[in-house]
Amino acid sequence: MAEGDTTAVHTAGGDPPPPSGNLLSGPQPNVARAAGYPDAPPRMGFFTDTSVCIGCKACEVACKEWNSVPEDGLELTGMSYDNTQGLGADTWRHVAFIEQRKPLGGQEPGVDHSGFDVFEAARSLGDSPSSPGPGATAPAPQAAPAGAPAGEISPLSPDGRTELRWLMASDVCKHCTHAACLDVCPTGALFRTEFGTVVVQEDVCNGCGYCVPACPYGVIDQRKEDGRVWKCTLCYDRLGVGMEPACAKSCPTDSIQFGPLDELRERAAARVARLHAAGVTDARLYGESPEDGVGGDGAFFLLLDEPEVYGLPPDPVVTTRDLPAMWKHAGIAAVSLAALGVAGFVRRPR
Ligand code: SF4
Ligand code: SF4
Repeated sequence: MAEGDTTAVHTAGGDPPPPSGNLLSGPQPNVARAAGYPDAPPRMGFFTDTSVCIGCKACEVACKEWNSVPEDGLELTGMSYDNTQGLGADTWRHVAFIEQRKPLGGQEPGVDHSGFDVFEAARSLGDSPSSPGPGATAPAPQAAPAGAPAGEISPLSPDGRTELRWLMASDVCKHCTHAACLDVCPTGALFRTEFGTVVVQEDVCNGCGYCVPACPYGVIDQRKEDGRVWKCTLCYDRLGVGMEPACAKSCPTDSIQFGPLDELRERAAARVARLHAAGVTDARLYGESPEDGVGGDGAFFLLLDEPEVYGLPPDPVVTTRDLPAMWKHAGIAAVSLAALGVAGFVRRPR
């Protein structure tokens, strides 16, 4: 059933209706309805296709401007040209710059592009059989020079130079299906919106910080000045009036795509298939599966390498998943202790 489908039809002998309670783990077909919105619109989210990110940081700037997020130091990591370092209370979109001694996926080392008319190539992208489509990096068939390992990925070009690539990726709050930050918040400052996103209300947050260690991605963060937590709201105010989030609006390459989550998942699967056909076999989706440890992310990614390369946990799990079992064990222990106490009192010699 679609994420946003609020008409759970259950016919005799058919599939059972999806669970409507607020679960702590496992697939959750409709997060907004589980959170108490009976007529919720489709779940909205982000698909960030890192294969077309050019690292311009327009998304970071647009996010700061729209949401009045303060400047946060602009310090270089010493590892790359990344000057915002990571997500934090004052960085709700972060563009990672990762430098690797690897050729681009599907690239045949040593191909000379000096006589290549890029404008003509852009005009005919996707139109000719040799053109795999926007964002592809493979050269035309037989374009590799003699001696180049055609069709293979090699760290060296035929003339011995080391191949290099940049991986750029705009990271953000994942708007998890099972959001531990929300589960542990004692004040209700964090809440699920009708769009299925997770938003924090700064005027309700008391700065207890429980949500910070609960987030499996290390996203939510306290601002030093007042201790309250801040993170991406997926531009809840813009969604409410039918506008797309500021980062997606500003992205010049459509690396950040916004829309109904079901549609984005279909688009992402087609994009991965297209990249694989073009020889970019490392392309993979991250966070799109409702079967993963957080029930799938509302903001998921197409990556060109292992998640760890981008600083993302390879197998995130909602940190509140084991709470019911823990409470059950604690309850059993408490009842056992009480029973022992009563038994000791009853059997005491008079
Ligand atoms: S990524 Fe972290 S902060 Fe964002 S919804 Fe999930 S648990 Fe909450
Ligand atoms: S995601 Fe888009 S806006 Fe952000 S750095 Fe990449 S290309 Fe620029």
